[in-house]
Amino acid sequence: MKKILLILVVLILLSACTLKQAYVSITFDDGYASVYKDAFPILSKYDFPATVFVVTSYIGNLPDFMSWGQLYILTKHGKWEIGSHSHTHPNFTKLKRSEIENELNHSKEILISKGFSPVGFASPYGQFDETVLESIKKSYFYHRNAGRPPWLNSLYNIDVFNINAVTIYYDTSFEEMKVKIDRAIAEKKWLVLVIHDVVKGKPKSYQINLELLEKTLRYLKEHNVKVVTIKDFLTAQGLLK
Ligand SMILES: [Zn+2]
Repeated sequence: MKKILLILVVLILLSACTLKQAYVSITFDDGYASVYKDAFPILSKYDFPATVFVVTSYIGNLPDFMSWGQLYILTKHGKWEIGSHSHTHPNFTKLKRSEIENELNHSKEILISKGFSPVGFASPYGQFDETVLESIKKSYFYHRNAGRPPWLNSLYNIDVFNINAVTIYYDTSFEEMKVKIDRAIAEKKWLVLVIHDVVKGKPKSYQINLELLEKTLRYLKEHNVKVVTIKDFLTAQGLLK
């Protein structure tokens, strides 16, 4: 009798710690103009939102990056989320604590002054250590890494300050995307994708081809995967404090 009770308790605990289905969050780092121009229309076609982690000194200043108005349209009409990716994109592990905090706070203040409410941060180059994390915790409610094992997030192992992600590179194939998505579906896990720039032709280094992006989105739709922003996922799971 005791054994049966124990098994029941374990089963109840396990189901409480398991997602009801697979989730995918699509994130764009840096704030490239192609995200607004090319990715946004396709994501809207599938009614998928995304999260953009912007480098605040690039927005409205560099020609290859979005304007503040474009970011506003993403949040207003696409229900997208805007997070911070620092002010000048340095390697945080090479900075003094005061410099780290300046980068974190300055980008947050700018985003707030432009009408956004950033809760998330993604470290430039995916580089961070304990000191960096301590500072991030003072200014933001979550932090996304740029690709570390175990790649997928389970409800029972989510660390909101070290959300696991998978970075897409120029040579990432559709087959590789499918393997990750299929695993998320089979194991009911949360997959976070990191994309930078989107191009129509042959991609280089951190770029992704537009057709590959569309194929991936179609695959997610066909398999009824829930595509949500990181903020909405964490809020729905009661993980955003
Ligand atoms: Zn970056």
